[in-house]
Amino acid sequence: MRVTMIGTGYVGLVSGACFADFGHTVTCVDKDESKIARLQKGEIPIFEPGLDELVKDNVEQGRLFFTTDPKQAIRDADAVFIAVGTPSRRGDGHADLSYVYAAAEEIAGLMNGYTVVVTKSTVPVGTGDEVEAIIKKTRPDAEFAVVSNPEFLREGAAIGDFKRPDRVVVGGANDERAKHIMTELYRPLFLNETPIIFTERRTSELIKYAGNGFLAMKITFINEIADLCEEVGANVQEVAKGIGLDNRIGRKFLNAGPGYGGSCFPKDTLALMKTARDYKAPIELIETTVRVNTARKQKMAQKIIAALDGNVAGKTIAVLGLTFKPNTDDMRDAPALDIVPTLQAEGAKIRAFDPEGMTEAKHMLKDVQFASGAYDCVQNADAVVIITEWDQFRALDLDRMKDALKTPIVVDLRNIYSPPEMKAKGFKYFSVGRV
Ligand code: NAD
Repeated sequence: MRVTMIGTGYVGLVSGACFADFGHTVTCVDKDESKIARLQKGEIPIFEPGLDELVKDNVEQGRLFFTTDPKQAIRDADAVFIAVGTPSRRGDGHADLSYVYAAAEEIAGLMNGYTVVVTKSTVPVGTGDEVEAIIKKTRPDAEFAVVSNPEFLREGAAIGDFKRPDRVVVGGANDERAKHIMTELYRPLFLNETPIIFTERRTSELIKYAGNGFLAMKITFINEIADLCEEVGANVQEVAKGIGLDNRIGRKFLNAGPGYGGSCFPKDTLALMKTARDYKAPIELIETTVRVNTARKQKMAQKIIAALDGNVAGKTIAVLGLTFKPNTDDMRDAPALDIVPTLQAEGAKIRAFDPEGMTEAKHMLKDVQFASGAYDCVQNADAVVIITEWDQFRALDLDRMKDALKTPIVVDLRNIYSPPEMKAKGFKYFSVGRV
């Protein structure tokens, strides 16, 4: 199959490389010239484990191409994927669909012969209908289908998630040609018996939001249980294990922490909330989740301030981890972006280190001193705060860290250390939902 990917970001680049690895011929298009120039030179513009090798192999095999000019690629394609961003619209929280609609117009103007147009971007219910209307208006004669195929990959584990997903969802492949093309594209997954759900387009669009909404709610639930644990002297990790071993609940997404962030959950919960209100079917659980999670980041800043006896003015706080989770360089909506400025507003000086996120963080955080490594970061600091649980922070030499600190205060918002061990080493140690 010939595949064109419009948008070569975290989703478009990973999906494009994986489809090429499945044996298809893939052209990844992006309007960002510097991104395409880097890819054409063999450089990967994002940090995603294993992606450099995968891209290199498939480029060498002649199955993966990069361009800023979509003309030829769209003309030749069996399937054109829309994998552009759908950020929150300023002001009202709705998904901003302007990039999706611009891509639809571009595709309409260039497609040639039967084409499946696939929305891989996360888009609200009804977007597929609008994409179809745009294409019909521009090209009343065109032969095409608009299919929804939401993506569930996680940054940091994206290649494994794409190649071995729990399921693939395809919505609106109502004619035989569209179904055949979608089936061919995912053939390796059919062969290994990955469940593939063919459904209506609107159902498929809603599956993505319902999934992310549920996961955001699960995280928020355990965060609130963690707060209760602190009050009653219980241990949230053991509570999570105790409930998570119940198959109806499951163990994943039960790690208490500073609140969810990242490029998906915050914007997708907001968009789901807005869609539900628009259709006069508000989802109160999601509304509460959004409210509780937003407040949580302030609560975490207050927790840090309390650990320093209520006063951080003039004190140096070492922050380890800035990205919204480990193994990515993505800083979008990371909790650090709320926590750090709140500490600064109280007069704290921030020194930070993140293994992959600092290039991006430098544009997003002001007046932060960036360190070259974890030990450099903690040197002479009044306290250390762990915001992201990178593996390298789990393995720090705690004695060396204690010696480097001015006062041995550790606020661990990811529960990566053991409270008894930290106490035995003489730290004043604060974590989440454990006493
Ligand atoms: P991103 O911002 O990393 O990438 C989007 C890319 O699209 C950018 O490089 C941009 O330059 C390009 N683009 C925009 N308009 C274009 C056009 N008309 N022609 C060519 N290129 C264009 O975004 P992302 O994180 O890859 O997310 C894409 C979509 O996938 C979003 O809807 C997101 O919600 C969804 N999604 C993301 C993830 C994730 O983990 N990042 C997971 C699942 C789903």
